[in-house]
Amino acid sequence: MAKPPKSELPSHLPLGEKSEGRFYRKHILSVKQFTRSDVEYIFTIAEEMRTMVERVGTFDLLKGKVLANLFYEPSTRTASSFTAAMERLGGSVIPINEVRYSSVSKGESLPDTVRTLECYSDVIVLRHNETGAAATAAKYLRKPLINAGDGAGEHPTQALLDLFTIKEEIGTIDGLTITMLGDLKYGRTVHSLSRLLQMFNVKVRYVSPELLRVPEHLREELLAGNLPFSEHANLDEVLAESDVLYVTRVQKERFTDMAEYESVKDAYVITPETLTKAKEQMVLMHPLPRVGEISMDVDADPRAAYFRQMEYGMYVRMALLAMVLGKA
Ligand code: ASP
Repeated sequence: MAKPPKSELPSHLPLGEKSEGRFYRKHILSVKQFTRSDVEYIFTIAEEMRTMVERVGTFDLLKGKVLANLFYEPSTRTASSFTAAMERLGGSVIPINEVRYSSVSKGESLPDTVRTLECYSDVIVLRHNETGAAATAAKYLRKPLINAGDGAGEHPTQALLDLFTIKEEIGTIDGLTITMLGDLKYGRTVHSLSRLLQMFNVKVRYVSPELLRVPEHLREELLAGNLPFSEHANLDEVLAESDVLYVTRVQKERFTDMAEYESVKDAYVITPETLTKAKEQMVLMHPLPRVGEISMDVDADPRAAYFRQMEYGMYVRMALLAMVLGKA
């Protein structure tokens, strides 16, 4: 399809003109840096990105810009959706998905690797196995860095896309009861999403084995932020009242004791039978990959939103890229 004339483009996206804005050249490290109005603004831009992709597929908002996608840990969705986001905006990508084939395997430090990539690119997306790595790397950079997951710390872009999914699927966030299930200790997406939810008028139900409860430091933050939440071991206690069920994988790679992992890995499995006890309109989410926590027999249920969730992620990442590069 042909590119629409400039006058048809949304006013937030002035093709070829610098608009700068609040996030121009800013790092995206933690959801703690956002206000509710920032989140709402990101969603407005993400919706416009969705409209544009549906209408024209690819457009030239970031033409000439280069993204360095640097992943020290495996990724399917985050890496490929940032690539897709950049390419749909007309930019290009340096993919470093296998750091062991880069100078990292020669012993290069993170500060040196990111400073190298900064010479060739306009924005860096970093996934790292250590909590705090994104913040450390950002200290060495003049160009924006986006945290794509730092150990068991945060995954801010995932949390934004999770919240965007809830908004697009249900139409609102305020007033909902959101249940998070599984590995609440190591699951960085749970940590980031919980922090974002503090800005909204929601109730949160945490369901996990004793071993995988929300970490103490996060529990204290949530108490201080007045997020109404409760903790449970049994999903049946909260399933019927849940508007969203956010299921997570037990994060095998974060365990030091494999016997502990084995003892909790199959704690919960969502099946069609589980969903008979849930609301008709409940939204079932998962940041993916799943490794058995949601049976594939559930995929055809209209409540299963995890495939749509991935698509929403691309629009949110398009919005963030445009924002940090001063085009939204
Ligand atoms: N893909 C998500 C993450 O990188 C969830 C997961 O790996 O379980 O945190």
